[in-house]
Amino acid sequence: MTVIENDAGAPKDPEHASDLSGDTSGLIDPFGRHVNYVRISVTDRCDFRCVYCMAENMTFLPRRELLSLEELDRLCSTFIECGVKKLRITGGEPLVRKNIMSLFENLSRHLESGQLEELLVTTNGSQLKTHAAGLYKAGVRRINVSLDTLNADKFHEITRWGRLEQVLEGIKYAEDAGIKVKINTVALKGVNEHEITDMMEWAHDKGMDYTLIETMPLGDIDGDRTDQYLPLNTVRSRLEEKYTLTAIPYKTGGPARYLEVKETGGRLGLITPMTHNFCESCNRVRVTCTGEMYMCLGQDDKADLRTPMRQSESNEALKTAIDEAIARKPKGHDFIIDRENGAPAVSRHMSVTGG
Ligand code: SAM
Ligand code: SF4
Repeated sequence: MTVIENDAGAPKDPEHASDLSGDTSGLIDPFGRHVNYVRISVTDRCDFRCVYCMAENMTFLPRRELLSLEELDRLCSTFIECGVKKLRITGGEPLVRKNIMSLFENLSRHLESGQLEELLVTTNGSQLKTHAAGLYKAGVRRINVSLDTLNADKFHEITRWGRLEQVLEGIKYAEDAGIKVKINTVALKGVNEHEITDMMEWAHDKGMDYTLIETMPLGDIDGDRTDQYLPLNTVRSRLEEKYTLTAIPYKTGGPARYLEVKETGGRLGLITPMTHNFCESCNRVRVTCTGEMYMCLGQDDKADLRTPMRQSESNEALKTAIDEAIARKPKGHDFIIDRENGAPAVSRHMSVTGG
C-alpha cells in the first residue's frame, strides 16, 4: 500500500483548550475546537452519477430509513439550540428531495431570530431554475454549485446523466435571484486539469469565487481512484506560471484556504484534504440523511441521532447524544489511497455523508 499523504495535523493540546477562546458556550470538542457548523445531507439520491462520487448503478437507501422533513427540521433546530451558527444543506442532490423547499421555509425562522447566521446549500445546480427564488426567499444568500467542466460533452462524461446547459441556466437563475454563487470543481487528472485556468477565468469574470477540491477516497466507484487523483499543489504550481497568487486571510467558515489572483481580481479556494492538513481548524460535523452524525469526514466513528430522536418527544436524549459524539471528535482524518487494490479509505460515498 502506498500512502499518498496522511498528514492529519496536530490541533492544540486538549489540556490547553481553554486557552483557545474565552467563549465556553456551544459545542466544544476535546481539542478546543468550537463546532458551530453542521452539514446535513437530506437525501442520498441524485439526478447525476458523477464518476468520482457514485457508481452508475447505485443502490439507494429505502425511503423509510431517511429522516422525514419534520425530523430534519427538529434535528437542525436542536443543533441551533446547541450553538450551531451555520447550516449547510447537502446530499446527494438536496434539491431533488420531494417538498424540500418546506424545510428551507421552516428553517428560515432561525435566521429571522438571529440564532442562525447562515443557511447554505451545496448543489449540482440542476434544479436551480425551479428553486432559486424560493431559496432566496427562505434566506439563503450563498450557495456552492459543483461544476467540473464547461465542455458539454465532458460534462456528460463526468456526470453521466447531467446536462451542462441546465446547470448554467440554473446558475443564472440563482444570480438573478440575488444569491451569491461559488463554483466548486473537483480536480481530476487527465479529465479537467487543462481546463482549470479557463474555468477560473470564467468564474472570476462573473464575480464568482472559484474553489478546487482534491478527490477523496470515499466509497466504491466504478473506476480506479489513483487514476483520478491530482494533487492541488501541482495545479497551483501550474497556475503560478501565469498568475500571481497571494494567500489571503479570507474565511467562509469552510475548509478552503484562499488565494487572491492578481490578474483576475478574483478569489481561488483550495480544499486539500489529501495533501494539506485541514483538520486543525475543523469546526464542523456532518449528519447523514438517516441521522448518523460523523465527527470527521475521513473517519468511520459515528453517532446515531435518529434513535434518540424517535424514542422521545423531548430533545434531551438527542442533545445528550450530540454532546457525547462531540466529545469523541477525532484530531484528524486518515485519508490514504491504496494503490495496490484501489480500495477506498472510507467505504461510504460522499453522497451519503454529504459534501
Ligand atoms: N449533489 C451536490 C453537488 O454535487 O454539489 C451536493 C453533494 S456532493 C456529494 C458535494 C460535493 O462533493 C460536490 O462538490 C462533489 O463534487 C464533491 N465530491 C463528491 N465525491 C467526492 C470525492 N470522492 N472526492 C472529492 N469530492 C467529492
Ligand atoms: Fe450527485 Fe453531487 Fe455526487 Fe455528482 S457529486 S453524483 S451531483 S451527489
